[in-house]
Amino acid sequence: MKRTTIPTLLLLCLLAGAATLCRVDPARAAQSVRPNIVFIFSDDHAYQALSAYGSRLIRTPNLDRIARGGTRFDRCLVTNSICGPSRAVILTGKYSHRNGFYNNTNSRFDGAQATFPKLLQRGGYQTAMIGKWHLVSDPTGFDYWDILPGQGQYYNPPMIRNGERLRRDGYVTDIITDLSLEWLGKRDTSRPFLLMCQHKAPHREWAPNLKYLEPFDRRYPEPDTLFDDYRGRGIAEQNQDMTLAKTMTEGDLKLSAPAYLNPEQRAAWDAYYEPRNAEFRRANLRGEALVRWRYQRYMHDYLGCIASVDESVGRVLDYLKENNLEQNTLVIYASDQGFYLGEHWWFDKRWIFEESLRTPLLVRWPGVTKPGSVSRALVSNLDVAETVLEAAGVPVPADMQGRSLVSLLQGRRPRDWRRSFYYHYYEYPGPHSVAKHYGVVTDRHKLVHFYEPGWNYWELFDRREDPKELRSVYGQPEYAETQRRLEAELTRLRAELKVPAQDAPESLIRPARAPNPPPRPVR
Ligand code: CA
Repeated sequence: MKRTTIPTLLLLCLLAGAATLCRVDPARAAQSVRPNIVFIFSDDHAYQALSAYGSRLIRTPNLDRIARGGTRFDRCLVTNSICGPSRAVILTGKYSHRNGFYNNTNSRFDGAQATFPKLLQRGGYQTAMIGKWHLVSDPTGFDYWDILPGQGQYYNPPMIRNGERLRRDGYVTDIITDLSLEWLGKRDTSRPFLLMCQHKAPHREWAPNLKYLEPFDRRYPEPDTLFDDYRGRGIAEQNQDMTLAKTMTEGDLKLSAPAYLNPEQRAAWDAYYEPRNAEFRRANLRGEALVRWRYQRYMHDYLGCIASVDESVGRVLDYLKENNLEQNTLVIYASDQGFYLGEHWWFDKRWIFEESLRTPLLVRWPGVTKPGSVSRALVSNLDVAETVLEAAGVPVPADMQGRSLVSLLQGRRPRDWRRSFYYHYYEYPGPHSVAKHYGVVTDRHKLVHFYEPGWNYWELFDRREDPKELRSVYGQPEYAETQRRLEAELTRLRAELKVPAQDAPESLIRPARAPNPPPRPVR
């Protein structure tokens, strides 16, 4: 066991008659010893599209309820900015090179290893996983699981319930929410629970609920780096395949309808998109005008997906309140990574740069989190497992690599809290052609190494001087001392985290399965 657990501390406080010194109301302390855990996870939700983070694109009143009632983390960084790997990190509290899930192309999660749901289950919790799983192997450590196979689909999705394949009608975010509330209604009320409610949305191809097609027909502000010229950065940034200009497909842009709609859904879909698509085709846009049109269509669809995620969060929060569960439930909202909403011409994720590295993290734990508090500490998806285990009073395995956030949730930042963070991305060659890279991140700087043959170079960014990370200052004399310090820190972190000097063979994309076929270009 790594550290003293919260329940142990609470018990000591009570026994010592020192309840006034405890941060938790002693009248509720007995109940709080084993809180329920609701972990709501979305896929590719950019912090730029969440109003608690000051979004200029959308209002998310229900997600904001979590922030208002608890703690908003402003610098939650992921270790490897891509879907499956982030999920494996969440479950294990370990980096990709320790949990074995490196990329979405050929990794398969080893479900025999220790995960926090498994440890909670052994500790007496009832556990459920509902929604997007995306780890190839079947879930382990859950009394109930009801998952989307692979990436899942937005409408009428096939699902797998405890091994049984079935199909459900409707919109995926609503279905995952319905199933989550249904499970809560049937659970054994004598025991605490862990519910992992994991959405597909707003993952590509960001297909919104039909009811949000009209309401999101607005004009959205463009990011000021939409037409980035990539000067000041290297070949990897210039040679990716994730731009609004060349990578988006007809399906992404809703210029063709998905095959999985039923006739009624298809009619509603066509009623919205077809007249607008006809107008678009008549306009015969080119160059920047075409990219601007694509950006507007992308935002319409992406933000419509976010609206359903927000609505889902509201339904879960309402359920907790109406069933007297609110006070004794730790609610966590996060996305598996950040996402580009047109910055640098991009959609997708993968980079160590801020929009993809940083993910939303909102945590509410009544009696522990101070309502409306904000933490700027460097935290990570790596920390979720240990946080939940500590909250539940379950011992933390010594080989987990994160750190419990409980002290931060209590408003205390330990003096030895991390001041630097290690990042490592592996999926190349692969979709979107982002080169492999690793690096170290601090409050102010990033030192990045692109390390493949032909792409081998370093970059250094100073976010205080250059918040949008447009200009590497690597090798500049005035940064020599910073560079030396960061290089030493990177070496220290790689040793501490046991990163192999050469990438492990299982991290390499095998030619038989890589890469995915190139996306169909837009005509
Ligand atoms: Ca994702």
